[in-house]
Amino acid sequence: MKQHRHGIDIGFPLEAFQYVEVWQGEGSPWKVLLSSANAQIVSDELLMRFQIWTLVPWNRSDTFVEELEKDNHLYDVCAHNRIGGRRVESTATTLMISRVQQLEEGVENCQSRTFQCSYCYMEHMVDAKDFGERGLAVITTKWVNFGAGRETPDAKWKSHRDRYGDRDRREINQTDEHRRSLREDFENQAEVSLEDLTADNEKKLFSTRKPQVVTRAPDGCVWRWRYGTRWYLDPSGTTGSAWEYWL
Ligand SMILES: [Zn+2]
Ligand SMILES: [Zn+2]
Repeated sequence: MKQHRHGIDIGFPLEAFQYVEVWQGEGSPWKVLLSSANAQIVSDELLMRFQIWTLVPWNRSDTFVEELEKDNHLYDVCAHNRIGGRRVESTATTLMISRVQQLEEGVENCQSRTFQCSYCYMEHMVDAKDFGERGLAVITTKWVNFGAGRETPDAKWKSHRDRYGDRDRREINQTDEHRRSLREDFENQAEVSLEDLTADNEKKLFSTRKPQVVTRAPDGCVWRWRYGTRWYLDPSGTTGSAWEYWL
């Protein structure tokens, strides 16, 4: 089993990082959110792929956009989302708002390009889908490199928490035009392709869930209700709360 180490000697099996969870918006129960995580070791480094879906009924799309326009940290993709000088068009919320607008205009392919944070090792992309009577969904996918964990502290790991990110990362960004793409690194070796993951998450989003300890949905999904607020797909190596900061 591949192990990843961060700082002190703690080993984690990769499966422990995998999960799918679903919950309803706090204070906005009309909103359904799904998030998933997959881990992979590439060149000795721990790479994670997170995908988060927000399903909104069409009659709430304006409310949703208003919510996104507010100073909303809920949808930040990393700690550097609102650092001065960062181009506004690449922030997750701006991308989400423009995706909703594209759907309203009937645009079929709303997928954004992949953006790279200049401060930490993170790339993200936003997409949206029209589900007609079931509503619209905005989908954010991000790829995060947590580093090899051989040094303490690991510069890559640290870059995510550090307000000013990683110096090498910033310098590389200024000089190297052919930056390695995290997304490519992950996807080239991914067990489940991004396309398959997205299709799978879509199915899970519309799966049957009840507020009871266990729901066995007709589609085969087994959902566990936890903390009176969230469903976790069983089996999941971990609960999403372990990743709260990164989502
Ligand atoms: Zn960042
Ligand atoms: Zn980060």
